[in-house]
Amino acid sequence: MVIKVGSDLDGVYFNTIPLYIERGNFLAGTKYDITDIEEYDLTKLSGWDETISGRVFRDIHKVGNYPMMPGAHFLKILLNLRQFCHIPYFVTSRSRDYYHVTDRELQKQWGNNFILSGFSTPKAEVIWESHIDYFVEDNPADISDIIETTDCHVFVFDYPYNRYISGNQSGYTRVCSWFDIFMKIVERELS
Ligand SMILES: [Mg+2]
Repeated sequence: MVIKVGSDLDGVYFNTIPLYIERGNFLAGTKYDITDIEEYDLTKLSGWDETISGRVFRDIHKVGNYPMMPGAHFLKILLNLRQFCHIPYFVTSRSRDYYHVTDRELQKQWGNNFILSGFSTPKAEVIWESHIDYFVEDNPADISDIIETTDCHVFVFDYPYNRYISGNQSGYTRVCSWFDIFMKIVERELS
């Protein structure tokens, strides 16, 4: 059996959270930085509401050209190892309106060699059905859902908004970089 690795996109594979904050600050006249984002839901920030966050997403995704998380190329190095399924599974909860820009940005790096899903389907369901072994995520609600309902091990990108995660604590490992993920998976699978 080959090992399947999947990843969320925003805040994990694409370094979009700083872009959202910067754009939201511009629109709302606020001065938040990443350490102020203590809840995953950006509309909980004082001065931001659904109108602001809706505009933030529209503005950012209209452009695309998302910056990568540092070291995200380690995903490709990992998947090139013999034991692994060479195709990554990207599972996102972005609105379906952004399917095309998301697909286009991923094609720049992977050609047609990736699987993109999620959108209106719960992540845990996709992960379960696709038999994904490792998944990289930052949304605390999705992480809890995955560790409670699947056998997938989750790597949690550390952010102020995901410091508390409910559920089986052995179901996930907190990480600070893609290199960290690479080393931890290699240790678990190849040692
Ligand atoms: Mg995310």
